[in-house]
Amino acid sequence: MTNTSIQLPCAAQSVGAVNSLVTTLVQTIFTAQCALSAKSEWPPDYGDGALKDGIGKYDFIVIGAGSAGSVVASRLSENTKWKVLVLEAGDDPPQESEIPGWHPFLQRTRYSWDYYSEPQPHICQALKRRLCYNPRGKLIGGSGAINGMIYVDGHRRDFDDWLAAGNTQWGWADVKRFYERAVRPVGNATHPMGYVVLDASKHAGSVLLNNAIFKATAELGVPSKSAFEDGIEVGTTFLPVTSSKGRRTATGKTYLAKVSRRPNLHVIKNAHVHKIQFDSSGKRATSVTFSLREGYELSAEGRKEVVLSAGTIDSPKLLMLSGVGPRKHLEKLDIPVVHDLPVGSNLCDHVALRVHFKLENTSLGAFEQRTRIDFIYQFLSRNNSRLANGPTSITSFINTKGDSDLPDVQYHYTLHQQGDIEFFGVQFARRHQKYTARLSGQLRKSHLITFLLMPTKPRSVGKIRLRSSDYLDHPRIFSNYLSDPEDMATILRGIRFIERLEGTKAMRELNATLLRIPLEECDDYEYRSEAYWRCYVKYFGEGGYHQTGTVKMGPSSDRGACVDPRLRLYGVENLRVADASIMPDVPRGNTNAPTIMIGERGAEFIKQDWKEDDQGANEPK
Ligand SMILES: Cc1cc2nc3c(=O)[nH]c(=O)nc-3n(C[C@H](O)[C@H](O)[C@H](O)COP(=O)(O)OP(=O)(O)OC[C@H]3O[C@@H](n4cnc5c(N)ncnc54)[C@H](O)[C@@H]3O)c2cc1C
Repeated sequence: MTNTSIQLPCAAQSVGAVNSLVTTLVQTIFTAQCALSAKSEWPPDYGDGALKDGIGKYDFIVIGAGSAGSVVASRLSENTKWKVLVLEAGDDPPQESEIPGWHPFLQRTRYSWDYYSEPQPHICQALKRRLCYNPRGKLIGGSGAINGMIYVDGHRRDFDDWLAAGNTQWGWADVKRFYERAVRPVGNATHPMGYVVLDASKHAGSVLLNNAIFKATAELGVPSKSAFEDGIEVGTTFLPVTSSKGRRTATGKTYLAKVSRRPNLHVIKNAHVHKIQFDSSGKRATSVTFSLREGYELSAEGRKEVVLSAGTIDSPKLLMLSGVGPRKHLEKLDIPVVHDLPVGSNLCDHVALRVHFKLENTSLGAFEQRTRIDFIYQFLSRNNSRLANGPTSITSFINTKGDSDLPDVQYHYTLHQQGDIEFFGVQFARRHQKYTARLSGQLRKSHLITFLLMPTKPRSVGKIRLRSSDYLDHPRIFSNYLSDPEDMATILRGIRFIERLEGTKAMRELNATLLRIPLEECDDYEYRSEAYWRCYVKYFGEGGYHQTGTVKMGPSSDRGACVDPRLRLYGVENLRVADASIMPDVPRGNTNAPTIMIGERGAEFIKQDWKEDDQGANEPK
């Protein structure tokens, strides 16, 4: 920090003391801001090296440094004999990614692939252009660097069902080991190793709301839990979040950046892969071609394997561009077919429905714009404001039928403080102005609570197809939300549960009541009738950002499977897929932790399969 005093923007004079202190204060703030997401926190970029010296051969090429890809690259490069290359289309995370709870600021920026589903008249009608929005992270850390940071393992049944479908070594007993490995701190300063860093201690959000939710759900028989011990359970709890000491801890940081000074690991940023090349038999992936910084075309050759971790939308897109996909579809686009596989089918996602309460509670003051400035000031100067804590992670999993201990609905709860219009606007920027204005109008008069309702095990399935053979074109996403009537039935039961919560003593004491938002079409129906709520879902239902399944894992007998249970693409010896796209269906609960587990699981398969070649070369722990 220098001692140069700042030029005052006013005529008043200082004899020195005030000027010097203010200068130090301003410089301290700038220094703290610059330390947020400093270059040194991220992997060095090998892009210049690649341009200058060319790209040699790598044992493993990992495509995508997202939630799973960062784990795979970190684990594979533990073996000092293996040269690992990571190609990531995005760049280092911006400062907003580092601030817990500010992820909405990253959507519609260059750090997000802003995908939209094909029109679906029965959902997403309150969103801009009436289209479902599907953001995905385009940066080191992938969607894990723009997500809500909730971390939950999934329900044991999810994985036991995968096992029962023929996916050997994917039952709960098997995957649990990898969940445990992911959160186990290993390594030391000289030999750092990656792992998930979680904050389970800070229960952010409003104490008022958190207490009321625990009490209200308990009144309806939902147990309050201090934590889930063995995967998801029916109950209300605080889930851990991927943050620590007031900073986001996506795998791009904690797994990849942490080990990225290993000499056998190269990361190239702004490297958009657009083709995987195969040999003439189609049995071996030989190289990958990518555009670097939108200006250079480069290729990297793989000796052992290519690992595709570009996520549920981009992994199938890249496979199809490379000739692996449904034959008819590829032929229509004049893409030579290497393998006819159902890539892009089986798109699964949770549906997220937002139901709003108005909260007329005078013990909670109105928000003032000044408050946000105070937050950022405290955050930068002392790292202790609400911004450091991030969003509330209070969650309930319930069984709306009351017939088993399998949750069929999950809820998240958020408080919007009266007057906090600007942040509310950013959070719901995807919504059509008309609906945001209606809610903002209410937010000027009272606080709002949003209940986010997600059926845990949707049955509806969609698909992804290429728009054209141009890699820069966004794919066509046919989300097909709610096409199975059972999904709407579950949502309706979930809404009825919210109505019952409204009637609890805890919610009445809080003075929170359901907010009726004027909706021209739905107002034709009796308020709160089934027809009304069906119509409401059409407007305030949208995608849950938990897409999975488009490169489905399954045994060879499964005609819908694209990769085998060791994640190898059918018909190819050396191409694996390790990301959320391999999940046979969407697990109950948020998908980041299961995806990280898949990264761990996939890396272990690779290590086992190449063990004989390279035994005993692991980095010391
Ligand atoms: C806004 C949002 C909020 C969410 N909130 C939560 C939450 O709170 N909790 C939770 O559990 N889950 C949440 N999720 C879901 C969760 O983050 C994802 O399921 C998970 O991150 C998926 O990981 P992945 O490795 O499959 O893909 P990603 O993490 O998306 O990684 C894919 C990576 O590949 C890169 N890539 C793509 N195409 C190419 C290419 N052609 N060439 C090179 N690189 C490429 C991308 O830039 C990206 O970095 C949220 C998701 C979003 C978008």
